Amino acid sequence: ILRSRSAVVTGSTSGIGLAIARALAKEGANVVINGFGDAGAIEKERAGIEREFGVKAIHSPADMTKPREIEEMVRLGERTFGSVDILVNNAGIQFVSPVEDFPVEKWDQIIAINLSSAFHAIRAAVPGMKARGWGRIINTASAHSLVASPFKSAYVAAKHGIAGLTKTLALEVATHGITVNCISPGYVWTPLVEKQIPDTMKARGLTKEQVINDVLLEAQPTKQFVTVDQVAALAVFLCSDAASQITGTNLPMDGGWTAE
Ligand code: NAD
Repeated sequence: ILRSRSAVVTGSTSGIGLAIARALAKEGANVVINGFGDAGAIEKERAGIEREFGVKAIHSPADMTKPREIEEMVRLGERTFGSVDILVNNAGIQFVSPVEDFPVEKWDQIIAINLSSAFHAIRAAVPGMKARGWGRIINTASAHSLVASPFKSAYVAAKHGIAGLTKTLALEVATHGITVNCISPGYVWTPLVEKQIPDTMKARGLTKEQVINDVLLEAQPTKQFVTVDQVAALAVFLCSDAASQITGTNLPMDGGWTAE
């Protein structure tokens, strides 16, 4: 359904972003993948997407804390593919700490990557979308864009921020054939979740099993993790014509977490 479309997916060398990039490519979109990691592994993913799905894929190493590099990533997509029709702002990091010990540079980094990077990518991509009269902007927010958990002050602030940015932008571009939405997953088993387990153990004085069952899955009434492929399927749907009247929304995929 996305043949002749091109997408930029930030933070797509791992986890949810990689699944979204692959799912868009499977539907025929050319993709700019972005993110950090081992150069060989990234090249393998990139080449794999081209081979498996018969599309073009390129990697942008843009650092989501650097506005100039973010703009260059969008221009790279436009230069290489002729357009950036789909922008998925997905890059994100987490840090878990009581607020009084929260490192100031971690706060700044999380606000930059999880929130400001979306603003910079959006302002670079919107003129092209407007000129073509079609666009899809999808922000990976989080259940933490709707509710909070202790010890995640920067993350929860950034995710609430991206939910607000989503609504604002949806109104600004509503008459231009561009939709803007966020997807708010609950806990998805990815490196981001795995990496926060030791700090959560420390912050709450729990074992690994207790963190998984009593903190993470405790939040989700289904008692199951969301999968990256489920999030990617929703992103693909948001790019379809059937979703052209869905805009300005925050769609939870959280096993019932935010219903409580
Ligand atoms: P992940 O750690 O698997 O992937 C994060 C990606 O972002 C990687 O590709 C990494 O290289 C990239 N990245 C990190 N810092 C970057 C930077 N400065 N510049 C460019 N790229 C950078 O994490 P994930 O779980 O797939 O998370 C993806 C998004 O989903 C994040 O925004 C996260 O907040 C959100 N999310 C995750 C969960 C979850 O449970 N895993 C739940 C809700 C929301």
